Amino acid sequence: MDLGIGRPELDTLPGIMELGDLQQRMRSTYFERDVARGADATFRWLTEEVGELARALRKGDHANLVHEFGDVLAWLASLANLADVDLEEAAARYASGCPKCGGDPCRCPL
Ligand SMILES: [Zn+2]
Repeated sequence: MDLGIGRPELDTLPGIMELGDLQQRMRSTYFERDVARGADATFRWLTEEVGELARALRKGDHANLVHEFGDVLAWLASLANLADVDLEEAAARYASGCPKCGGDPCRCPL
């Protein structure tokens, strides 16, 4: 996944990574702890982070939004590691546009 789409300045920032790289980083950093916590508790952490993202969206503070999106991505990657799901494989479903209509942009009825 190219996080710098439409924002070339992001391509030059250090630390930008592909989705698979993020998942691997989460594995090397947290996998032992994730295994000890288990998938159910990790899922609950993810939902807590999604709640924090909801609050950040209401506040509208961009730096806080970036922080909370990062946390949601990190917990999603941890959960994917526990569930033995490859996030790049999962994201591939959307690689060619809408998986229902095949459009980019989507042409599905609202
Ligand atoms: Zn569609």
